[in-house]
Amino acid sequence: MINSENVLNSRQLEKEIETFVHGFLQDKRNIHSQEVIWQAPEGQMDKVKAMEIPEDGRLADEVVQEMMGEIYQYRGDANHPRFFGFVPGPASSISWLGDIMTSAYNIHAGGSKLAPMVNCIEQKLLKWLCAQAGFCGEKAGGVFVSGGSMANITALTAARDSKLTDKNLFLGVAYISEQTHSSVAKGLRIIGIPNCRIRKIPVDSQFRMDTTKLQEAIEKDKKAGYIPFVVVGTAGTTNTGSIDPLEEISNICREHNLWFHIDGAYGGSVLLSPKYKSLLKGTELADSLSWDAHKWLFQTYGCAMVLVNDIQNLYHSFHVNPEYLKDLEGDMEHINTWDIGMELTRPARGLKLWLTLQILGTRLIGSAIEHGFQLAQWAEEAIREKENWEIISEAQLAMVNFRYAPKGLSEEETDLLNEKISQRILDSGFAAIFTTVLEGKTVLRICALHPETTKEDMRKTIQLLDEYAKEISGH
Ligand SMILES: *Cc1c(COP(=O)(O)O)cnc(C)c1O
Repeated sequence: MINSENVLNSRQLEKEIETFVHGFLQDKRNIHSQEVIWQAPEGQMDKVKAMEIPEDGRLADEVVQEMMGEIYQYRGDANHPRFFGFVPGPASSISWLGDIMTSAYNIHAGGSKLAPMVNCIEQKLLKWLCAQAGFCGEKAGGVFVSGGSMANITALTAARDSKLTDKNLFLGVAYISEQTHSSVAKGLRIIGIPNCRIRKIPVDSQFRMDTTKLQEAIEKDKKAGYIPFVVVGTAGTTNTGSIDPLEEISNICREHNLWFHIDGAYGGSVLLSPKYKSLLKGTELADSLSWDAHKWLFQTYGCAMVLVNDIQNLYHSFHVNPEYLKDLEGDMEHINTWDIGMELTRPARGLKLWLTLQILGTRLIGSAIEHGFQLAQWAEEAIREKENWEIISEAQLAMVNFRYAPKGLSEEETDLLNEKISQRILDSGFAAIFTTVLEGKTVLRICALHPETTKEDMRKTIQLLDEYAKEISGH
């Protein structure tokens, strides 16, 4: 009989796991002194491309070592305290433990009957998260998904089905801003709303949606015979951390009977900070909210939530009853996740977040989130002390945008210079800072979420940027 236990007995497996866990945690403890970007040496890609699937199996020990040394080793480490690019993913080791438990049991968390307690905990946690967002009605609920992109498309599907019919879908118009995350337009296209019916509303000087322009655009479309159906506001834009005027958008949505979705993939976690929660006032007025736990809630990847004010809307869009699932039908009390989202077979994504919240408690989570605000403020302070640097967007949430702009350079030269500064700090391995474009200018962008990043890390990073900037520009 073919039995994997004969190839790798459980004692050997235990040893492999132990060695891996030990080495991994050891590395994590020394993370401050490690590089942020591990560049592969020349020829590494060819070496990896040449790896083949063997006819006869190999020793586990050898394969594990090979994978760690040749494959995982070379990476940009978004978990590192000095990784300031994109929205970092500073995952807690507790979340990782939750992952191990979840995959160890490998529970099919699609339905309630197969995993009643798991399902109950996920639903309970979602209700709690809803309450944080101000979705307090009995019908509030949601579903755990793999990320903000999936959360957005899930919510947009519910918006479409709630406001449009098969017959008038071709007239439906969606409103986003110039700063809305690319996953929203992508999701809209996937659900049948092409680019020509996605309106990108301009933003104000602080990169927030201009609601006067929104109102005008909706009225113009209505006059032309279109059917406006959804506005997407952002709570924490990916570029600058800006928060759209949520209450004003909600009023406009109400007036015209539109679905109001908030993309809080990045900023949603601010709801758990007692100090800054009020910045997200108006969230409670939305129909749906996306919120990534694998960004500012310290989870390993593949953990996000889509929350809705009325779970019936998700059920309406996603429920199925094929004959092979008949025995497992749920009701609204014991709802099957496959009836309110896109996935059928799915891991219990929410349990690692449950574990994290249980072990840390809300007070510590709140202050860990507030630390991000502090980091961005420290960065801004340090930048303002240096000459020739401009702040393009002030510290907002955990972000700040800035650039080196010595006098006498053209716009193109300044753009190129800032690209070079970013490349230089990446090459150094000390910190990861990338560029973005704001108002047509290439700028440097810091997003700092890691609870272990120190003031010293921040000051040293800015100091290095300043040295590189002077070295490259000669100014
Ligand atoms: C990161 C992000 C997304 C996409 O989320 P993924 O988890 O990467 O799919 C969507 N919206 C905003 C505002 C984000 O910051």
